[in-house]
Amino acid sequence: MEEKQNKKIDLLPREEERYKPVEAKVHCRFCGKTSVMKLRACVNVSLHPEEKELVLNGSFFQYECPSCKEKLQVVYPCLYDDMSRALMIYLLPDETEKALAELNSQQHTWSPEMLKAAMVCTMRAVRTPNDLCEKIKIADAELDDRYVELTKAFVFAQFMKQKPDFKAAQVLYERQNGKDGFVMISKEGKTFWAQFPDGLYDEVVRMFSDRIPKKKTTDYELIDANWTANILSKLKE
Ligand SMILES: [Zn+2]
Repeated sequence: MEEKQNKKIDLLPREEERYKPVEAKVHCRFCGKTSVMKLRACVNVSLHPEEKELVLNGSFFQYECPSCKEKLQVVYPCLYDDMSRALMIYLLPDETEKALAELNSQQHTWSPEMLKAAMVCTMRAVRTPNDLCEKIKIADAELDDRYVELTKAFVFAQFMKQKPDFKAAQVLYERQNGKDGFVMISKEGKTFWAQFPDGLYDEVVRMFSDRIPKKKTTDYELIDANWTANILSKLKE
């Protein structure tokens, strides 16, 4: 992202404002020209199912520079809302932890409907569009992202034993040929895909269901590698 546009965007747009596009200046790193882009603070795939594919194929956060036609990735705070899966995911690309704390601290301004939805929905925060896609894919596979993250830690540790020189940039859940697995992406852009070992996910659910806090919360939560490391560190105590 070339510029920080998020300052101009209300972190929690009101219902009637969610689909009102926000204008932001985008500086093109190819031709140097600045143009005005319309940003959308919310993707509601229950109302607009066609937009889910745009998020998954990356084009939702792509913008074509009107001057030179190059494609730019413009990433900004955006709420992904899928009521059919009771899933709300907030993409918070800049200073994620800080933005998340701010977002959760604004709950007194949420509407009663929003608070009611927040009680029953899976509420997540993510840092990047790739992380957002991963959460969507996990929900589509009807898996629990917390157990998927824990499974990821085990599969990745096993993978690193076999390939100690692998410099991982990202490890993301991905289903291939109907099988659950993780795609490992190296810093050089090499990718490997590793299937969930038989029974591991169910074993992880059994092992951790008592260790994962069951608090009923309306907070958006960041369920990532740090969260997993925290859970695993408690296991050693
Ligand atoms: Zn341009």
